[in-house]
Amino acid sequence: MICETIQRLHTELPPTVKLVAVSKFHPFESIVEAYGAGQRIFAESRPQELMAKVRRLEEMRASRVAETRLAGGDVEDAEAWLSDVEWHFIGHLQTNKLKMVLPYVSLVQSVDSLRLLQAINAWGEHNAKVISVLLEPHVAAEETKQGFSPEEILAILADASSYEYICFKGIMGMATFTEDESVINSDFAALADIFARCRSSFPSLAPDLTELSIGMSDDYPLAISHGSTMVRIGSMIFGARQ
Ligand SMILES: *Cc1c(COP(=O)(O)O)cnc(C)c1O
Repeated sequence: MICETIQRLHTELPPTVKLVAVSKFHPFESIVEAYGAGQRIFAESRPQELMAKVRRLEEMRASRVAETRLAGGDVEDAEAWLSDVEWHFIGHLQTNKLKMVLPYVSLVQSVDSLRLLQAINAWGEHNAKVISVLLEPHVAAEETKQGFSPEEILAILADASSYEYICFKGIMGMATFTEDESVINSDFAALADIFARCRSSFPSLAPDLTELSIGMSDDYPLAISHGSTMVRIGSMIFGARQ
């Protein structure tokens, strides 16, 4: 099932849309299965779980290399296996957990406060690593303290040069949790509008500001119609979360 869904999505999604497989709460074996079907980008939402899976992956890779060497097989091939997995972080990230996440991910999609952004920049400086991030605006109707207003996002980008260790790659958003498609539609329109304003207001950042991460299992076709460049799909690929 995992294989078929991955392959179907890879065929079905427009070439401008990247598939991020959300593997949170799913066993490591499911990730390996999806990898076998050609999936390369995976996303986790909890630091502990991300770290455990990264380690497990490295162990599996190392043991396959060792076995292949013993058997006199193609070691180069074994070394390549799982080495091109790319991890994204999509959950709420506490500033005291950065070291569990930032060494392993190519993108933090869920930067939802100024405090977190500043902490990531400081970590980057200390570790000489530029971290790619998406900023998360708050548009959904649910009450939450997390996420930026559109004005806050524009203010951050106006001040982008003071974040030397951050590469601003775009916007990540979620629609209101509802069955009402007109609400989801207007949330996606609002997110796409913020993304367009960021790009047009800061032409010098626009070459990097290329990602609009919207769309999950239940709403990704609608998100794509609003210009999504990255869909985050979990349960449709892996089944219900345990
Ligand atoms: C869990 C999660 C997803 C995936 O949701 P599905 O409905 O299982 O596709 C996408 N984005 C974020 C931020 C998530 O936390």
